[in-house]
Amino acid sequence: MLLDRPGSPLRLADVPEPEAARGRLRLRVEACGVCRTDLHLRDGELEPGRLPLILGHQIVARVDGGGERVGVPWLGWTCGECVYCRSRRENLCVRARFTGRDIDGGYAEWTVADERFCFPLPGDADALQLAPLLCGGLIGHRALRLAGDGERLGLYGFGAAAHIVCQVAVHERRRVFAFTRAEDEDAQRLARSLGAEWAGDAMAPGPEPLDAALIFAPAGALVPAALRAVAPGGTVVCAGIHMSDIPSFAYRDLWQERVLRSVANLTRADAEEFLAIAPRVPVRTRVEPFGLDDAERALQRLRAGEVVGAAVVEVG
Ligand SMILES: [Zn+2]
Ligand SMILES: [Zn+2]
Repeated sequence: MLLDRPGSPLRLADVPEPEAARGRLRLRVEACGVCRTDLHLRDGELEPGRLPLILGHQIVARVDGGGERVGVPWLGWTCGECVYCRSRRENLCVRARFTGRDIDGGYAEWTVADERFCFPLPGDADALQLAPLLCGGLIGHRALRLAGDGERLGLYGFGAAAHIVCQVAVHERRRVFAFTRAEDEDAQRLARSLGAEWAGDAMAPGPEPLDAALIFAPAGALVPAALRAVAPGGTVVCAGIHMSDIPSFAYRDLWQERVLRSVANLTRADAEEFLAIAPRVPVRTRVEPFGLDDAERALQRLRAGEVVGAAVVEVG
């Protein structure tokens, strides 16, 4: 499925099969999770690294020839030399290349990935179930760690990432509060079914102050709302790659050592940590499958807020 230019629908096309090379694995794609970042690239809110481009950075695939199953995440290549790479912050690498932005991704039958950025996945699990772990899970995990270990956790936007983080947080004996659009009863029901003790309108305060809040929805208006919902000393983490502008807010909403920060990308260490945690929880993803030629419709449903849980493109 090709993105010819931002703003145009993805198009089914025959392209030459990618070739394996030294250090690069040729992979037969089984499934690829649909991430809001794909939608931002599709809609031109983020600039693609190349065109035409194959989107998709939550790839579950089999190695051509061997058959081992691997996962390919957003972080596709780092330089290993810059100040960030040399200080265990390769997520901020100044020359980083990202899967499905700079490198063709997983909305395809075949792909090629740097073997240093491929992670072993269980061969007997359902590929559709695994796919959302590779971005929603990994970025959600990094966001949760950056939020600290407070007990009362607010999740703003309850989609692919939040429905995974919720399960991990409940497993860690935290209390989860899910903040969604007021009328989004499907998301609120999903949140309660996964152990959230409360679910309701994101623009209103929750039933009690939070120790931390993670914002997954791309709406800047949630930032002041989340700051007002956290207790003194609490942290608000913006976990998305793009957000509408943040409205101005009173300094008292930040005062008392509240922290506002973003989370960007992932490191390989994040991936190793999270992929070890997920089966121990165990994380069970709620998935809406789409055929490869239906990837554009998956993005449309995501834009409209109609996906419950995570959308996944099924290729195999
Ligand atoms: Zn993503
Ligand atoms: Zn670097």
